[in-house]
Amino acid sequence: MKHNFGAGPGILPQEVLKQAAEAVLNFNNSGLSILEISHRTADFESVVSEACSLVKELLNLNDDYAITFLHGGASTQFAMVPYNLLGDGETAAYLDSGTWASKAIKEAKFFGNVNVVASSKESNYTYIPKDYTIPADAKYFHVTSNNTIYGTQLHEFPESPVPLVSDMSSDIFSRVFDANKFGLIYAGAQKNMGPAGVALAIVKKDLLGKIDRKIPSMFNYQLHVDNGSMYNSPPVFAIYVSMLTLRWVKEQGGVAAMEKINNQKAATLYAEIDRNPLFKGTCAIEDRSRMNVCFVMDTPELEKEFLEFAKKADIVGLKGHRSVGGFRASIYNALPQSSVDHLVSTMQAFEQSKK
Ligand SMILES: *Cc1c(COP(=O)(O)O)cnc(C)c1O
Repeated sequence: MKHNFGAGPGILPQEVLKQAAEAVLNFNNSGLSILEISHRTADFESVVSEACSLVKELLNLNDDYAITFLHGGASTQFAMVPYNLLGDGETAAYLDSGTWASKAIKEAKFFGNVNVVASSKESNYTYIPKDYTIPADAKYFHVTSNNTIYGTQLHEFPESPVPLVSDMSSDIFSRVFDANKFGLIYAGAQKNMGPAGVALAIVKKDLLGKIDRKIPSMFNYQLHVDNGSMYNSPPVFAIYVSMLTLRWVKEQGGVAAMEKINNQKAATLYAEIDRNPLFKGTCAIEDRSRMNVCFVMDTPELEKEFLEFAKKADIVGLKGHRSVGGFRASIYNALPQSSVDHLVSTMQAFEQSKK
């Protein structure tokens, strides 16, 4: 068995993969594959509606929200958010906390004015900026809840005078938060929810329809909401596997139970990074992510050797993003504590081998 620390597409629960594999051959005992059925069948409609109710239940969402599954990954959401919420000449506020945040900013500039309230770019995004004010006349304030590349996370969300919009691609369903405080939440599935090819968007219904721009159909939230994510052929398989993963999260005890396990995994790994003289963390301690753990070596020349050492111990996906270097251990929901324990023993064995 491999220990999969890859950042994305990331690890999925073994049970989910087994069920998904079965459905590829015979979906719900229909004698047909999930890959060859119409999305208009009752069987698939019940998959979408179960996925939506699981999202609602797991996040304790009230009835003000619509839940949709959309094509195009999180990157399409970077454009879709301002396309739908930011009128010409209006201003949106953004927090620049990493590469994904800056890509969201780039797209928003196509639609209106962008006020970047704070940025940690000058320090290669090693911390979450906290000293800023959110302008009360902004249409919305956009944050990235977890910076997948740099390994920082917003442990607390700001009180915002304007609707809060968040890219939660890499930590949705990993921890408890008050989703009803948000105007819009989106997430590409492939980090913590399912396979690549679908994004989840949770939209507060009363935010829509406030600007008069004409919006092409595929970019129009209202249209997807009105059509129950079935305006065109949805990414059937990606939605199905996401639904199975959400069922799995519920079986584990829901988001609160996931959070407890995730905190334990993160604590185990950071403790070893801080103890082991060969390794060190890359970000501000108070902002350390509990999903993507970034670390480097005191002696960078040893990094390649450690990666090889880890590979021999069946650890995969550990190489850090090129903009940080070193290592990144993504410890998403589906990664068990035993894999973290195994990584820690491997770091200790490497330390011994250097004595
Ligand atoms: C991976 C990632 C994205 C990009 O997702 P795509 O689905 O590939 O477009 C955006 N934001 C965050 C936080 C991510 O981790």
